Amino acid sequence: MRDYKYIVEISKENKELIGKLYNKKKGTSSPETYTFCPTNLLCDLTIMSRNHYFKNDKNLQNMGYKTEYAFGKPIHIDKTENFYYYYPLAELIKDSILNDKKITIEELEKIKLFFNINLNYSITLRERNPFYDKLKGKKNIKEFTYIPLEYGHCNIDKIFEDNKTKSYKYLYKCDTLTEVIFAILHYLITNKYNRTRKCNHCEKFYFYKHSNSNYCNRKTPIKTYSHLNCEQAVKDIKQLCERRNKIIDEKIDMEYYHNLKKYRTYWKKYREKVEENPTVENLKILAHFTSKKYIKEHYFIDE
Ligand SMILES: [Zn+2]
Repeated sequence: MRDYKYIVEISKENKELIGKLYNKKKGTSSPETYTFCPTNLLCDLTIMSRNHYFKNDKNLQNMGYKTEYAFGKPIHIDKTENFYYYYPLAELIKDSILNDKKITIEELEKIKLFFNINLNYSITLRERNPFYDKLKGKKNIKEFTYIPLEYGHCNIDKIFEDNKTKSYKYLYKCDTLTEVIFAILHYLITNKYNRTRKCNHCEKFYFYKHSNSNYCNRKTPIKTYSHLNCEQAVKDIKQLCERRNKIIDEKIDMEYYHNLKKYRTYWKKYREKVEENPTVENLKILAHFTSKKYIKEHYFIDE
C-alpha cells in the first residue's frame, strides 16, 4: 500500500468530536501527532489572524504564509503548494467564515476540482461485538469494533439517520496540507456543521449545526479557569459571583446600610451585562466588582 504524508482522523465518541492529524516525516518511523477540535480548527488557521503576509516581499507572487500554526505545533507548508492551493483555499475558507457564507455539498465538489484535491476517505461505525458477553474472559475479544460503512449503493443521509447515536470514525488519506484542510472542511459540510458563529464567551469563530449552540469548545482564555471550556467557565464564574453577592449583600445590609443602594445598582448593572454577553471582559468586571479587596475598599466602609 502506498504511503501518505498525512492522515486525518475525525471520530465521534459519546457525542464528543475529536480530530487527529498524523504527519509522517521523512526518515522517521513514527508520525508526529496533532490533536485538534474539528469545529474550531478552520477558524484558527493562521490566515484568520491579521499579520499573515510575508513582510519583506512586495510582489503579489509571494503572498501567503509558510507555516500553519492552527494545529498547535507549527507545520511547514510546501512553497508551491502554498502559492497555488493552500493559501487560496485558506482564503476561501476565511471568507466563508467571516461572512457566514454557507458552503454547500455542490460547492465542496467544485472546490475539490479547483484545488486539485485527491479525496480519499473511509467511514467506519463503532459496533458492539454481539459475542462479547459470551466470550469475554475466554477469548481475547474486544468489546467494540469499527465496521466500514458501505454506501456505494444506498443513500448516505439515510444511513446517518439510522446511525445517529453510533460512534464513528472518518479517515482521510492526504498528500498535502491543502488536502488536510479540505478533508476537515469536507467532514464539517457533509455532517451539516455548515454554519459559523462567534462564541459568546471567547468570541472566536467555530462551525456548528444546532442553533442552540452558543459556545465553542475551546478552553476559556481566563487563566484561573483555563482547564474549563468556555461554557463551563461561564457557569462557574457566574455561580462564584452569585455566591459572593449573597454574602456581600447581607453584610452591607446589616453593617453598611448607607451603601446598599449603590451596591445593588452596580451589582445589577454588571450582572445584567454578563447575562447579555458573557464575554471574558464582562465576567472579569463582575468578578473584580465582587472581589474581597474591591468590596472592602469601596463598600465595607463607614459614612
Ligand atoms: Zn469559546
